[in-house]
Amino acid sequence: MSIPSGAIVAYFSMEICLEQAIPTYSGGLGVLAGDTLRSAADLEVPMVAVTLLHRKGYFTQTLDANGQQHEAPDLWSPETVLAPESARSSVEIAGRHVAIRAWRYDVIGAGGHVVPVFLLDTDLEENSEWDRTLTDCLYGGDSHYRLCQEVVLGMGGAAILDAMGYAEDATYHMNEGHAALITLTLLERELAGRARHDIGEADLERVRRRCIFTTHTPVPAGHDRFDEGEYRGVLGDDRAQLLVDAHVVEDHTLNMTHLALRLSRYVNAVAMRHREITQGMFPDYPIDSITNGVHALTWTAAPFQELFDRRIPEWRRDNQYLRYAIDIPLEEILDAHAATKASLFDEVLKRTGVKLDPAIITIGFARRATPYKRADLIFSDINRLKAIAGRSGRIQLLFGGKAHPRDEGGKALIRQIYAAAAELEGHVQVVYLANYEMDIAHLMTSGVDLWLNNPTKPLEASGTSGMKAALNGVPSYSVLDGWWVEGCIDGVTGWAIGRARGGPDDEIADLYVKLERVILPLFYGLPFSWANVMRNAIALNGSFFNTQRMVGQYVHNAYFPPANQRPIPVAGAENAKEDVHSAWAGVQ
Ligand SMILES: *Cc1c(COP(=O)(O)O)cnc(C)c1O
Repeated sequence: MSIPSGAIVAYFSMEICLEQAIPTYSGGLGVLAGDTLRSAADLEVPMVAVTLLHRKGYFTQTLDANGQQHEAPDLWSPETVLAPESARSSVEIAGRHVAIRAWRYDVIGAGGHVVPVFLLDTDLEENSEWDRTLTDCLYGGDSHYRLCQEVVLGMGGAAILDAMGYAEDATYHMNEGHAALITLTLLERELAGRARHDIGEADLERVRRRCIFTTHTPVPAGHDRFDEGEYRGVLGDDRAQLLVDAHVVEDHTLNMTHLALRLSRYVNAVAMRHREITQGMFPDYPIDSITNGVHALTWTAAPFQELFDRRIPEWRRDNQYLRYAIDIPLEEILDAHAATKASLFDEVLKRTGVKLDPAIITIGFARRATPYKRADLIFSDINRLKAIAGRSGRIQLLFGGKAHPRDEGGKALIRQIYAAAAELEGHVQVVYLANYEMDIAHLMTSGVDLWLNNPTKPLEASGTSGMKAALNGVPSYSVLDGWWVEGCIDGVTGWAIGRARGGPDDEIADLYVKLERVILPLFYGLPFSWANVMRNAIALNGSFFNTQRMVGQYVHNAYFPPANQRPIPVAGAENAKEDVHSAWAGVQ
């Protein structure tokens, strides 16, 4: 890695998962942001991060006897865990000046290097009652609230970094389109008082040189769009016109993905397959791929940390040493897993009163409850599942995941899992753990025997929970989408459900057939062959799908590329756009 002296990366993300006690994230995007900062601190990358404070968190999920989700604000007191910064800035929102302050959290790397995180807060006396709520709720409110939040994040964040003296040599990394309005502030800086209509390609190019954009979703609803009335009202006529003059507004709509694409010098998707899909959706921009990872130390459970420390102690400093897990004796893998499984079952008992049986294969599924993730796919044929469990070996299923408060389809899915659990009583034990957060994710991804994932292809950009599982020797059983296209060697690191280009019927059939004929016989009949798959998951996937490798790639390919780096070719999948639209239509 070659990092120029004085350079700094300013990483912007609407959500960041810093630690369990700070509820400023909703799911995968936030966990990835937190893991990115943890690895940047370990690797001593000069970086600062900006996000919103989210005083009311995302929400706390409780589930009633029918699986109906109830939500409560996740209140916390920033004052007790964060340090106030003296710097102030302000942004203009719908003609009002909104004052912003920041709270600081330090992410400290293995060698002591600090990546400061600034959490923006508009709850200040000089602001109106409504403006004071702008940094309260993550993904709460309507589209007007969202746009105002994005002004605070992008423009307010850029302003406060300037006030703190970080702006001079900064490279701005937009983690998803929510922060794309940074580019508007940078454009205004380039204009430096010149008339707006003076804006030219050279100004855009200077902004572009400073910006990196990572797009995270092929789901059309994942791209924020604001219509003309909305963005003119919030940004004001002058700024709105600047965006129009800079040709970043299309069809009278401000699309944050489009804005970030147009004003970044480097754009990446988060897995190889996701790059193909994204390139097909945006054929005019060269799109690279840096596959996601997870922070290895954070997501490796204590029994496996101890095992790796004993056998491959270098793994902490350099995650690539996990490759040498391939020589760890299989008994030791099985022993460590018995310990993680026991911790998980203790917690399940404590939370639900259900005593799971450690001798039975336990399949985990946990992620945001939303239709395209198809949490209920394994219940497509309940009688068949019953029969398989009766014939080939007993099965326990453990679920987790929150539905966004307005995602009725997601909430219905949770109820369907409860209904299936009732139907399967006496045949297959099904447990749903409420309030899936970092601590439960940690226990589940390390303590189950098999990690199930079956989203509608190609809508999963990457997925990261299967990577957490791999670090703990838990193989994945997943459709070939997102990271699993790269991580799956069928029968070696886990198993594929269906074929790369197959449809849902093919997947349902395969799900049951492989479970019955391959997975259960191996688990119950050949424990050492099973342990071999566990060990391969660590050695082949844990060693690669981590944020240490990922941040290294960002440094090398995006932040500080060598001077002679060749441009990224524009090469898309011909049918990617149709694939996404038909898949999305299918899950609506
Ligand atoms: C890892 C993680 C996720 C993301 O999981 P996916 O596999 O990407 O769906 C979401 N929520 C929590 C709490 C996590 O730890």
